[in-house]
Amino acid sequence: MNNLSCLVLVLTLFTGLTSCNSDKPVKEDKVEIQKETMNFEDKHTYAKPKEAVITHLDWKATVDFETKTITATAAYNIKRAASASKIIFDTKDSLDILAVRIDGKPANFEIGATDKFLGAPLTVELTKEAKQVEIDYKTNPSAAAVQWLSPQQTANKTAPFLFTQSQAILARSWFPIQDGPGIRFTYNAEVTVPKGMIALMSAENPTEKNESGVYTFSMKQPVPAYLMALTIGDVDYKKLGAHTGIYAESSLMEKAAYEFAEMEDMLVAAEKLYGKYQWEVYDMIILPPSFPFGGMENPRLTFATPTIIAGDRSLTALVAHELAHSWSGNLVTNATWDDFWLNEGFTVYFERRIMESLYGKDYAEMLAQLGYQDLLETVDGYMEDGQPKDTHLKLDLNDRNPDDGMSDIAYEKGYFFLRLVENTVGREKFDVFLKDYFQGNAFKVMTTEAFIIHLKANLLDSTTYNSIGADNWIYGEGLPDNLPAPNSNKFELVNAQIEAWKEGTAANTLTVVDWTSHEWLHFIRNLPMGLSFDKMKELDNAFKFTKSGNSEVLAAWFQHTIKNNYVPANQVMKDFLISVGRRKFLTPTYTALKESGKMAMAKEIYKEARPNYHSVSKQTMDELLGF
Ligand SMILES: [Zn+2]
Repeated sequence: MNNLSCLVLVLTLFTGLTSCNSDKPVKEDKVEIQKETMNFEDKHTYAKPKEAVITHLDWKATVDFETKTITATAAYNIKRAASASKIIFDTKDSLDILAVRIDGKPANFEIGATDKFLGAPLTVELTKEAKQVEIDYKTNPSAAAVQWLSPQQTANKTAPFLFTQSQAILARSWFPIQDGPGIRFTYNAEVTVPKGMIALMSAENPTEKNESGVYTFSMKQPVPAYLMALTIGDVDYKKLGAHTGIYAESSLMEKAAYEFAEMEDMLVAAEKLYGKYQWEVYDMIILPPSFPFGGMENPRLTFATPTIIAGDRSLTALVAHELAHSWSGNLVTNATWDDFWLNEGFTVYFERRIMESLYGKDYAEMLAQLGYQDLLETVDGYMEDGQPKDTHLKLDLNDRNPDDGMSDIAYEKGYFFLRLVENTVGREKFDVFLKDYFQGNAFKVMTTEAFIIHLKANLLDSTTYNSIGADNWIYGEGLPDNLPAPNSNKFELVNAQIEAWKEGTAANTLTVVDWTSHEWLHFIRNLPMGLSFDKMKELDNAFKFTKSGNSEVLAAWFQHTIKNNYVPANQVMKDFLISVGRRKFLTPTYTALKESGKMAMAKEIYKEARPNYHSVSKQTMDELLGF
């Protein structure tokens, strides 16, 4: 048996045991494609799944907020090739391995040298009959995935809080794991937390606190390590619909329940588009503002930033995005981080289709146009920095932090490529293709190359594939000429108001009735650069940008306040940077400070803000500010 067929066997057995795939018969071409998807090497894990691979985890943990440590036992069921003599796990940030047992008996293990991105391999010697590997360990307070928050950093300010952020390769900092997106496992967990708090995971979750502080979890569908997640806090639960609900601190619950009241409608719209939701329940938890991302698609429980609570439901595209990941990413998963666009490009496409279903084409087109603006800026940035290869859809992140691939290229260039395919074949055909793609590849991994085979076998003949320059989109730099540029009627109206203002119409007489966040964002982004203090003041008096409770509006406004030395906004900006840890806002704001000759101010604020940030934001800002 060669390596490849061995892996096919291992993974076929594994998915056969644990997946809840659709029961559609597998077509001939799918078999071929599945072989192709197996033929990949993930350079961001030490694991050798072709030799020995985990299939299930039983995790028993005690969480100590005093010492900021998790003490746990991770017991893995494994499958292995007959010839395998060892199994390799990933670890990071001095995960303290206390003992390892094979089938209950002490086992030999070794921790290898540490790589700055990958961490250190944990190699366990296998016996001939080995079925289960148990690892006793303790996390380090600096474990990169885990953020420990003081009560002061929460909304209620009464209890501490904890959350993990494992994507891309930080899961290994809180449990020893085969940490590649192509390796899936089911898990059960028992977590002990301080009284008065509730633990939640990317699994079947409790909805009420209990006296014992012991919570149990079950994730029956196989997930990769980056989707294993834990959060602990003093939060309540409120059901929103038949399959949807929200967890939030009590002081945020009312606002959150209003803001996300349409979650169930989104789920219904998503199912209508691309087939049944496979995870039974879709809940969301509102985390404290230090959460580094907008949202994280942890299965059954999206982790979300509170900065999407705008009071008017205007930033809920993020919910549609995380929900869409329940298909693209969580169901059909990028095989390696080089294929990240398969997760994110599809998700942005799906997100905008959900938003279109709910709010109409004009609304979705605004989102696409804003995405297009982001994309142009990102591509320009990479080109100016001499990194044209980072504008390829298929990345090469060898010897790099896979976090480097989390740019608008995967999201927006990926989106526009799929939009081009849709335009080429027509929506009806494309929807059939996508639905089949998600169902036929559910709980499997996908490489870019396997996707191309699938695309050619099921949607585009070679002539059409070549005529749209698909390879150039996927393996080429920059933005091809046939990018289907979006066109938003609503933004045309905004442009007209900007022109009117530039020509002397007073700001407070502009026609801005019923503008959404998106129109305001477009307005602010497209204001001329180099505005005088008086002009800035006029806009601020008319539209109260500095006092805006909308984080997107504020962050866009800071670009002008920083570059135009509009001092009245400085305190608000400083407070924002200290309380919010969402990297999407931090990067452009600190960059604007840096590029406007305000490095001293940037560093002063950062010094105060840094302890509030999660490691992924810290890492980016450290680099940006030379910390
Ligand atoms: Zn995403």
